[in-house]
Amino acid sequence: MAELKDVKGIGPKSLCLLNKININTIEDLVTHYPFRYDVLQRDDLTKVEDGEKIIIDGKVESVPILMRFKAGLNKMNFRLVTQSGIVGVSIFNRAFLKSKLLVGTDVIVIGKLDKTKNVITASDIKLDVLSNKVKIEPVYHCTSGLTNKNMSTYINMALLMYGREVRDYIPKKYQDKYNFVNKKTALNIIHNPSTAEKLKEVTVRLKYEELFEFMFKINYLKQQNKKEKNGLVRVIDREKLEEFRKKIPFTLTNDQNTAIEEILHDLESPTRMNRLLQGDVGSGKTVVAFMGMYANYLCGYQGALMAPTEILATQHYINLCEFLKGTKVKAVLLTGSTPKKEKTEIYKGLEDGTIHMVIGTHALIQDEVTYNNLGLVITDEQHRFGVHQRANLQNKGVKPDVLYMSATPIPRTYALTIFGDMDVSTIKERPKGRQKIDTYVKKTTDVKEVLGMMYEELKNHHQVYVIAPLIEESENSDLTTVNDLKEKMKLAFKDKYKIDIVHGKMASGAKDIIMEQFKNNEVQILISTTVVEVGVDVPNATTMIIFDADRFGLSTLHQLRGRVGRGTSKSQCILISDSDAERLKIMEREDDGFVISEEDFKLRGHGDLFGTKQSGDMTFKIASVKNDYKILLQAKKDSKEYLENKETDSDELKKYFIDSITKVN
Ligand code: ADP
Ligand code: MG
Repeated sequence: MAELKDVKGIGPKSLCLLNKININTIEDLVTHYPFRYDVLQRDDLTKVEDGEKIIIDGKVESVPILMRFKAGLNKMNFRLVTQSGIVGVSIFNRAFLKSKLLVGTDVIVIGKLDKTKNVITASDIKLDVLSNKVKIEPVYHCTSGLTNKNMSTYINMALLMYGREVRDYIPKKYQDKYNFVNKKTALNIIHNPSTAEKLKEVTVRLKYEELFEFMFKINYLKQQNKKEKNGLVRVIDREKLEEFRKKIPFTLTNDQNTAIEEILHDLESPTRMNRLLQGDVGSGKTVVAFMGMYANYLCGYQGALMAPTEILATQHYINLCEFLKGTKVKAVLLTGSTPKKEKTEIYKGLEDGTIHMVIGTHALIQDEVTYNNLGLVITDEQHRFGVHQRANLQNKGVKPDVLYMSATPIPRTYALTIFGDMDVSTIKERPKGRQKIDTYVKKTTDVKEVLGMMYEELKNHHQVYVIAPLIEESENSDLTTVNDLKEKMKLAFKDKYKIDIVHGKMASGAKDIIMEQFKNNEVQILISTTVVEVGVDVPNATTMIIFDADRFGLSTLHQLRGRVGRGTSKSQCILISDSDAERLKIMEREDDGFVISEEDFKLRGHGDLFGTKQSGDMTFKIASVKNDYKILLQAKKDSKEYLENKETDSDELKKYFIDSITKVN
């Protein structure tokens, strides 16, 4: 297939800009769907004030008079009959339109109305008048240097040149069944809708297509898992495991014990484990995972735990080492920043089997890593890993069992569908003795009071997290930034307390150093973007303050709140926002992540549940798991039928789907 640069009009500079917003192929470009549409309603001459913008349609009533000036400039005047009267129109530098503006032609004039002269100075004259008097204009996510008009031009040129070649992900049978238009037509309409009805129709089609592909893959993974009775069969030495369990310094909750049993059962059975362990923040998933790792070790297999960030991996590693004290297990940490020499040693140990457990980031599934006998793979915060990575991981070792941990509770019905290829263990109960985190919604005018609350905690030798949505000022936003907050906090607390910043754009080494300092109470106020969202454990931090809280989904807020209340002291969370109080008040009332996630789902759709862009193929371009749940169910049913229908096994499309999921990067 042709490349982006082959599209007429896309030069090196625009190519660069398109790449910047993640448009790398022609398919990416033509599926860069508008995020909204502007409807150009027609105005009435009598209802527009003097000097205001007007959009009006009418017929050309007089032959346009063209005047040419120096330097190639020109101006054209004509009269326009509209439903609300006759008006003069003048437009600059459109001499080329003269031959088209015949008397009687229907046009739309966009411009500024001068009421005293009764003249519109037009900025644009559109000839493609629609019968229903409404024009729907797509609005795209762009980037500086790339206008909406550019985007629209590129997309339409790409469609014109290569529209036929864009892959259609709906098998013919279902195209026919639902009477869907073909892909090219659908794309043409979504980018240039003539009526709201047509737009709606193709939107459904494109959503269905996206969900069909996704559900096909889920169904495929599920089918593969079921087929495989060749998973590892283990006999776990329960006595040894019990001895180990007794050393845990707290009593496990019933839910934790149940989850452990489910995992042990999977480890012992010949079907490969493919399990999602979900539980609210602080519900104690880690210890459950470690029990699984240990049982796996007792049976003579290696275990790997993969975390989404280095900070988290490191923290897990420290906890694991604590947990393994007094055992003979050799565990190591492997991340992107592990020194080369050490890495080589680790690779060797993993290959010859002298290393029993490894914790790390994506580094664990690099091609260089070979395992001796990998029996169990655990990934933390599974929502950050897409379907492809799931498959990739499974291809690594022999046929390892796989456990995914997620702190983002997903409403059951959705979980069953989206994670339809997995079994689910759920921890609902929280460890005993946990106190509820007091939560308050405050306005920006209350900041003084909030600083007072901070001061009280700091005086008691506790630490504080402060979260802001942005790192630095941006032209088109007045959101709070971490840099700005640092200045403000410095003013408020002088040199009494050490204040520092972490954010997602920092090198991970620098980030880790500051996190470490915060952990050791060398930093008392940690200002951050949402990088602390997942999993960091600092029990002495008792206060979480979130600026512009309305910018975040409830699930994210809940995750952030879960960073405090990890020790024995009473903790608090303060949400600062001048809007959206109704939604934020849910946080004051609710502390159950499952309930919050249901509320979030009702309010925002799936967006927040699967993280942001990191979630890879979990984010849909046009569909929404919540709003399009009915379409999703249909796509699920159809894609299953398609998968199971042997007659379609030689379909090029089917092969493509399967290829794209089994291929290792
Ligand atoms: P999460 O589910 O968010 O990953 P963690 O596994 O990090 O939660 O556990 C949070 C904290 O609670 C840890 O400090 C852990 O040691 C502790 N914890 C876990 N289970 C229990 C329990 N049953 N009783 C008391 N504390 C527990
Ligand atoms: Mg965790």
